[in-house]
Amino acid sequence: MKVNLLDLDAQYASLRGDIKNEIAKIMESHQYILGPQVKEFEDMVADYCRCDYAIGCASGTDALVLALKALDIAGDDEVITTPFTFFATASSIDRVGAKTVFVDIKADTFNIDPDKIEAAITPKTKAIIVVHLFGQPAEMDKIMQIAKKHNLKVIEDNAQGIGAEYDGKVAGTIADIGTLSFFPSKNLGCMGDGGMCLSNDSELAAKLKQLRVHGENPKYYHKWIGLNSRLDTIQAAVLKIKLPHLDAWSDARRKNAEYYYEMMKNIAEIQMPFINEKAKSIFNQFTLIAQDRDRLLEHLQANDIGCAIYYPMPLHLQECFAKLGYKEGDFPIAEETVKRVISIPVYSEIPREHQDFVIEKIREFYK
Ligand SMILES: *Cc1c(COP(=O)(O)O)cnc(C)c1O
Repeated sequence: MKVNLLDLDAQYASLRGDIKNEIAKIMESHQYILGPQVKEFEDMVADYCRCDYAIGCASGTDALVLALKALDIAGDDEVITTPFTFFATASSIDRVGAKTVFVDIKADTFNIDPDKIEAAITPKTKAIIVVHLFGQPAEMDKIMQIAKKHNLKVIEDNAQGIGAEYDGKVAGTIADIGTLSFFPSKNLGCMGDGGMCLSNDSELAAKLKQLRVHGENPKYYHKWIGLNSRLDTIQAAVLKIKLPHLDAWSDARRKNAEYYYEMMKNIAEIQMPFINEKAKSIFNQFTLIAQDRDRLLEHLQANDIGCAIYYPMPLHLQECFAKLGYKEGDFPIAEETVKRVISIPVYSEIPREHQDFVIEKIREFYK
């Protein structure tokens, strides 16, 4: 048996006809750039996320760069974020010329530890980028309180958490700006790259819309230096077809997660994902803390089970960030976590037999 970490085939099979029709229409209309489907999809996402504005762009990475630019982060400014996330969270800070300041994570949720944020704040700190890792929101109540006290802006990197909730609020809509990614492996993926910014602030939304077209308004008059970063019409059309299914897909992921929780609760060598009681996760990943992780990974791979290490190296130790001056030992929880995590398949359509096989092989390994 071969078990995939993610299988896009199953999802595509159910939508193939609709997707082909919609793409064909755009090929006939030639409205490739900011065609009507972009605005239609933006309105659908704003509705889905219960926020006022959604601004499509070319990727989740660009969404972060646009968000930082919209908040005037540049030059000498410092931005606080987590070292245990996908690279783009921190690289976007560098891209606008600002300085990344890392704060360690919590061992249970893998998200930034709010209790460690204040010690990292200096007179130069302008913003915090929070990441809702693996689909579980960080502790937004505490983080927003700290931001308010110190007059900081907050961006939610919600690339992995579309539709997740914290304390009844939709992830990505709690801070000044939230960002989404439609990379194919996210819960809502398109057929290439795509991203989005969310906000409830009309001025920020207007600025984001200008920034994605070189900062121009009206055409050929530039108030800011923006990006060329639009969500493609074709991608918007694909996403319009997929969004109505997202809740069902996320529910299926939650059910698959529940099955793992139930079936593996008595395996002492692994710790299942801890979900904060205020958080509703969408399980973009199902990430275990495992004893003897490297050998477990080998064992599962040898049995044709797709699994992955998200992420093998914390960002403060990446070569490109050497200039920030961090060293091993600075963020012990993130450093320990990268050695122990392993993500196993939890995608919506995974057959039960495949989950049973994963469970059986994990059990076998620890026998
Ligand atoms: C995927 C991801 C991004 C980047 O999104 P792209 O669309 O691939 O540019 C940023 N942050 C996090 C946490 C991600 O998982």
